Amino acid sequence: MNKMTINDSDVTGRRCLVRVDFNVPFDEHLVITDDTRIQASIPTISALLAKGASVVLMSHLGRPKGKPDPKYTLRPVATRLSELLGKPVAFASDCVGPEVEAMSRALGPGEVLLLENLRYHAEEEANDPSFSRQLAALGDVYVNDAFGSAHRAHASTEGVTHFLSPCLAGLLMETEIEYLGQAVGTPARPYTAILGGAKISGKIDVIQNLLGKVDTLLIGGGMMFTFLKAKGMEIGSSLLEQDKLELAAKILADAEAQNRRLVLPVDTVVAGAFDNDSPSRIVGVDAIPADMMGLDIGPETIELFEEIILASKTVIWNGPMGVFEMPNFAVGTNAIAQALVRATEAGAITVVGGGDSAAAITQAGLEAKVSHVSTGGGASLEFLEGKELPGVAALTAK
Ligand code: AMP
Repeated sequence: MNKMTINDSDVTGRRCLVRVDFNVPFDEHLVITDDTRIQASIPTISALLAKGASVVLMSHLGRPKGKPDPKYTLRPVATRLSELLGKPVAFASDCVGPEVEAMSRALGPGEVLLLENLRYHAEEEANDPSFSRQLAALGDVYVNDAFGSAHRAHASTEGVTHFLSPCLAGLLMETEIEYLGQAVGTPARPYTAILGGAKISGKIDVIQNLLGKVDTLLIGGGMMFTFLKAKGMEIGSSLLEQDKLELAAKILADAEAQNRRLVLPVDTVVAGAFDNDSPSRIVGVDAIPADMMGLDIGPETIELFEEIILASKTVIWNGPMGVFEMPNFAVGTNAIAQALVRATEAGAITVVGGGDSAAAITQAGLEAKVSHVSTGGGASLEFLEGKELPGVAALTAK
């Protein structure tokens, strides 16, 4: 990684302004229902505190539309964070202004301050320079540990970096860049990508970028049916993106021209309705009944995909193989998750992109058994598309 991290700079006695991702889910009583993201920030915060820095934390939460809204306050996060850190966490009722600046200057080494929701100000998403300058006044050093927000050039991810130096990657950010960077950079081969999810349309750029890099591309999920249709097969009432048929045909032709192996499922689990309880059966992809839809990959496909995954040295996975939210159609997705675990045990680097595949591997309880599960949905997709993320580009080079 060519960006400076918190281990490359002496932060002792300095105020570190840290962008974290505390965009956690709440119930109607403002109780945090999943604190994974808060927990994920602890290594960076603890490391900075152990180095004798003071820490000023900033995050967005939900979509308060540029003005204060008590539904989106970060105050409960300060309480939870304090429990996790085992020390007090001060809370500022705004994220900029003279009072907040005074609070940040009053911090001693080892002390923590959490700022109120950045999106109480429309200037955050507008990447407003004077707002960025106000944020920058709250620290001596900038740290970004919010990979999931790094694909947006906002004041707290990009603007602020023009007014502070150095700008360092936090530990979570460093891990994300290392693993995802390997997947788009110089992966150990054979290199296999598995793509699934509902639609081709959301992943065209990922497919095209990865096709130029992988040895094998496995396609599952709803998007498989547009590819099958492009090959002239009948897909019944399965998900079809009519306007992407030509593109699917072009991707298939490109794969052949570039000598890449693009593997489509050979069988599928079909049902009469988009419903977990709809009676289902397994059919070959060339025998999908006209009145049924494919909702998962079939057992022969699972076996074929497993074999390829287990022979790989690098595997990247983005998107479920079927409608994994319904237990009867989660078999393919869970089998792929298991195959990734076995490949990891055999020494392969395995990376799960954020979003639904991250949710699927967590649902299967296997997230600790693969090399890396990305915390950023949109950000990991843009990374895999080969784009430079503004929040990463803005960090200080080594
Ligand atoms: P994406 O956000 O594009 O990664 O798509 C994820 C969604 O794709 C999940 O909600 C899955 O239920 C859905 N999905 C996966 N396979 C299928 C399928 N065969 N038919 C319809 N939806 C699917």
